[in-house]
Amino acid sequence: MDVSCFCLASREDLQPVTTPSERIVVAQLASGILEYGNAVTAGAAARLPYPGNLQLALDRLTLIAWRQGVGPPGSVVELLQLASRPFGDWEIRLPDADVDPEESLLAYGKPTATCEELGTLRGDVEGEMRENALLRAVMDKTRAAGAPDSYVAFRRLLIERPAITALELDTKLADPALAIVAAELRQAYPEVPPEAKADGIVRTCAGCNGLRLPLDDDRTFVCEDESCPAPGTPGRSHPAAEGVHWLRRELRTFITGPGRAELRIAEAVAAMGVPAQLWPDFDSCDVTVFADRPWVADVKAWRNPTRLGRSLREKLFTVPPDAERAFIVIGREQVKAHPRYIALLCRACPDVKPGKRVVAVSEKQFLDYVRERAEKQP
Ligand SMILES: [Zn+2]
Repeated sequence: MDVSCFCLASREDLQPVTTPSERIVVAQLASGILEYGNAVTAGAAARLPYPGNLQLALDRLTLIAWRQGVGPPGSVVELLQLASRPFGDWEIRLPDADVDPEESLLAYGKPTATCEELGTLRGDVEGEMRENALLRAVMDKTRAAGAPDSYVAFRRLLIERPAITALELDTKLADPALAIVAAELRQAYPEVPPEAKADGIVRTCAGCNGLRLPLDDDRTFVCEDESCPAPGTPGRSHPAAEGVHWLRRELRTFITGPGRAELRIAEAVAAMGVPAQLWPDFDSCDVTVFADRPWVADVKAWRNPTRLGRSLREKLFTVPPDAERAFIVIGREQVKAHPRYIALLCRACPDVKPGKRVVAVSEKQFLDYVRERAEKQP
């Protein structure tokens, strides 16, 4: 893991020397939890030592705790227990770690979206697209075949169907648009893990079409998608024996979560009679609106505005020269969870304030602007 960008990103802050270490220790902890989570899923955890990042995070947290005169976690096991509690409950204070008091790194024993944002040091689709071999392969194959529609169909399937039965997946693979990425789709959708089944049944969530997972009592079921628009609304149940597939975790975080807002925006714009294009030109941006003097939008679903601001300061998206306006659009779920989201984002990244080339707006504001322009046009 490259943590050097944290130090570079905070160079202009001129904050106390302890600042980067708090951010780095939380990033190391998050990263260690993700590595550990992957090892557990692969069934190897019991035979492996804890990831180095967990041990490093424990050592550094111990130093911070001593400096603050509070007790450190006594072991990696205690560290993982601590990671399940909201940061606001921690005795160790981490004011410069870019986390909110109610956020935690683990929930129901699984890494949270916060953990994913912190542990990968990117938390956004573009970063993941560059690094993720599977997404790279889909992009290369569809581009080589000159098949932008296949690329769009692939993205759309991942967003609309994070969980899918074996039969439905086979039907999708027979769709000519998806057939050229069939191998990648098979890799993207492994069979549901044993812990997702209870009494031989796999339960889905009607809010996000993902899974509702059984808690320890095997009677309570929770939707594991933190940005689900209607968490826990019972959807269809499937006998596990019939085969159910579940999109890989990192694809659920990076594609499905932000994608819901992308699809919603494109549909709302189309309903106004305005042309909208999703992921045009193999993902040069998320949505373009209007055929003439187009507006381009990059839709973000980061949970934490300060972390997003930090990432945007490192790299803001490139606006095509023919674009009339450019926006960073924050999804409805994120603004609802964080009412001052846009203000905090603009404070963390002044380059997206009103009047700049790229402006940060909420999903609702963006649609209001589109409607205004559409109504003015003859
Ligand atoms: Zn859900």
